[in-house]
Order: sequence, then structure tokens, then C-alpha cells
Amino acid sequence: MTQETRIIENTWDLTAYQWKIESDALDLYVKGLKDKKILGRKCHKCGTVYVPGPTYCRKCFIDIDKVVEVAQEGVLDAFTVNIADVKGNLIEHPYITCTVKLDGTHSFLMGILEGWTDWRSVKEGMRIKVVWKDVTQGALADLSHFQLI
Ligand SMILES: [Zn+2]
Repeated sequence: MTQETRIIENTWDLTAYQWKIESDALDLYVKGLKDKKILGRKCHKCGTVYVPGPTYCRKCFIDIDKVVEVAQEGVLDAFTVNIADVKGNLIEHPYITCTVKLDGTHSFLMGILEGWTDWRSVKEGMRIKVVWKDVTQGALADLSHFQLI
């Protein structure tokens, strides 16, 4: 079976793509972290909530500027159990990196998962909550980790 190759000639307006779009999302996200809040943006047309929140909706391709504070609980989306270092040597204390989906949002955050004793018992869909560092500084590290609840 051969695959058809289609050539579509057109002109792309690359001025619409600017790094500022994503840096605005990160700036807003980090600003919220300092106050132990998770801020995103919600599309007024389709209702999609992004965290971190870009200034445009990736579904509707329209500008969005409605800032929303989202829940600090959600579900475990996916995870990886880290049992070895980069050279393949087993590590003494395995740890889990994960993606979570906070309640009411439509995007994912990454972090470290704690609150488990046997990684074999960790399952996708388990409830999690955000755990903050005691002192926040307006940095990505202010969100210490996600905790199973
Ligand atoms: Zn939208």
C-alpha cells in the first residue's frame, strides 16, 4: 500500500507565533504560586481551562484573558516509577514523577508524587492534592509536590 503525498502550497504568517504567548502563561502561573494559588486562563467561548494559561485558546484560536484560580485537588493522570539512575543503577529510594489534572482544568501539570508506600499500588485516576513549600518565593519550586489523598 502506498501513501499519498499531498503538497499544499500556501503562505504562513509566522508573525502570529511569538514566544511571549507562552511566557505570559508561565508568568501568570508563577505569580499565583507565590500566594499558594494556581492560576490559569479560561476560554470564554468553549470553556476550556488551561494551566498554565496561554493568552489564546488552542481550540478556538481566539485571544483569552479571563484569569481563573483553579482547584488544588485533582486526579493522577500518568506516572513513572523511577527505580534507577541514568546509568541504570538501582537507587535506594524510588520516586514517582507524574502528570496530574486538577479539577475543572483541561491541561496537565507535572511534578513529584508522594504519599505512597508501595509504588505497585499507585493507579491512574487516584485523587491527589497540591502540597506547597512552607515559604513561597514566586518560583516553580513553590509547588513542592503532589500528594495522594
Ligand atoms: Zn476556546
